[in-house]
Amino acid sequence: MEIDELNRMIRECKKCRLSETRMNAVCGEGNPNAKIKIMLIAQAPGEEENRAGKMFVGPSGKVLDELLSKAGVKRDEIYMTNLIKCMLPKCRKPKQDEIEACSSYLDKEIELINPKILVPLGYYATRYIFQKYKIQVPSKAKFFKVSGKLFLAGDRKILPLAHPATCLYNPELKQDLIKSYRKLHVLLKDCKWYPVCPMKRFYEEGKLDKKWIELYCKGDWESCVRYQMEEEGKFHPDWMLPDGTLDERLRK
Ligand code: SF4
Repeated sequence: MEIDELNRMIRECKKCRLSETRMNAVCGEGNPNAKIKIMLIAQAPGEEENRAGKMFVGPSGKVLDELLSKAGVKRDEIYMTNLIKCMLPKCRKPKQDEIEACSSYLDKEIELINPKILVPLGYYATRYIFQKYKIQVPSKAKFFKVSGKLFLAGDRKILPLAHPATCLYNPELKQDLIKSYRKLHVLLKDCKWYPVCPMKRFYEEGKLDKKWIELYCKGDWESCVRYQMEEEGKFHPDWMLPDGTLDERLRK
């Protein structure tokens, strides 16, 4: 199946009650042929998206554009989609049977687009992606603990972020969101220290698990303690791992 065929099915879908109240089912957007590494997954279309049949055209779209521009990421570098393709009346929470009815479209999009990095926005999209990749799901109240943190699931990375609409309800959180969305830019490049870092050598010698390389050196290197110390010119032993713990086995 091609993405066009999938989008045609989404537009015509009547699998759940949301088809009765929507104006338009909203399909994913982005260039499916570009070397897309990042897929943003929002919860569901808002009122303006429902009217226009397009992703992120309403107030949260404006916030998203600002967050992406501050992160130095262009919309055409990412693919954007929703967990639920039709508007939830009065922007209520999604019901479990609606998620079950709709999520096969998201599963198919992930298969067709094959992004390296999944970025679920907000609690429900994160909960679905964590369940799909067998990562422990936090309670809604503890979502902040995983937001902005990078996870590894096989060959894919998962970076949950707060939904841009959070800024509309809590403007005081905007600086936090700007900071966490900057990680999208970080994820598009490898750590500049990687070619000379002892972690590269340990990995190539088979002494270090790949997860360290994927989560830090080729992932969120700004969170690496080694990187931070390197930038500050502070001494750190070769056997110190990216999270700052010392691995005596690497010392030998
Ligand atoms: S271990 Fe840290 S400093 Fe070294 S390459 Fe990886 S991210 Fe960069």
